[in-house]
Amino acid sequence: MRSDTLFPRTDQKSYLAELREMVTGLRHHLEEERNLGLEGWPRASSPPGANPTSRPSLAHSLSPVSLQGIRSELGDCRRCKLHPYRTQIVFGIGNPQAKLVFIGEAPGRDEDLQGEPFVGQAGQLLNKIIQAIQLQREEVYIANIIKCRPPENRNPEPDEIAACEPFLIKQLQVIRPRLICALGAFAAQTLLKTEEKISSLRGNFHEYQGIPLMPTYHPAYLLRNPGRKRDVWEDMKKIKKEYDRL
Ligand code: URA
Repeated sequence: MRSDTLFPRTDQKSYLAELREMVTGLRHHLEEERNLGLEGWPRASSPPGANPTSRPSLAHSLSPVSLQGIRSELGDCRRCKLHPYRTQIVFGIGNPQAKLVFIGEAPGRDEDLQGEPFVGQAGQLLNKIIQAIQLQREEVYIANIIKCRPPENRNPEPDEIAACEPFLIKQLQVIRPRLICALGAFAAQTLLKTEEKISSLRGNFHEYQGIPLMPTYHPAYLLRNPGRKRDVWEDMKKIKKEYDRL
């Protein structure tokens, strides 16, 4: 069927003009967003053998500007009930362009005092784990599910996670890692929204916000259960294999 039998010629002209206007408007909108530092959509990657989740992917939202911008937005955060207990917010540390991000649970005493994740005994072991796969701490990025130390190192509570996780997601939108390693049951279960045991989650890639995620045992757990180091080594080898393919 000829198109001019569907639309008379005069209508075709006005449709074309309207279409042109829409494209110009969209172009202006995208230019404005770029000027605001919203650089479009981060790349999505499909993880080796990952199960897609129904949660919104990083690929569906615009990237925030920078890690410093996110830190400023966080400010002297009082969004949850942890703020009176903390000494410092523990934002995260490392390479802003890291291909690999480690995510733990929450700052402990040493981290709260120093303002940096994984600086205590568990942190020393994490450094060794990172070095075992021929990487340096400075090459990766390290963060936690929440950024303030819970009193007596109790587990973070749902309202605290709800207040804090959006900032972690924004950090990941800026860093755009290709791989995530979740350290311990709490981080893995929170990120993957599952109650499955860490012993069954570890050893395989899952997916968080479109990024392949390997859960493994927490270094603090390894300090108490050195027999599990072999499992962590197996998980790290899988991470390194993917890392080297990137
Ligand atoms: N344990 C964590 O989960 N995170 C830290 O930063 C330190 C210890």
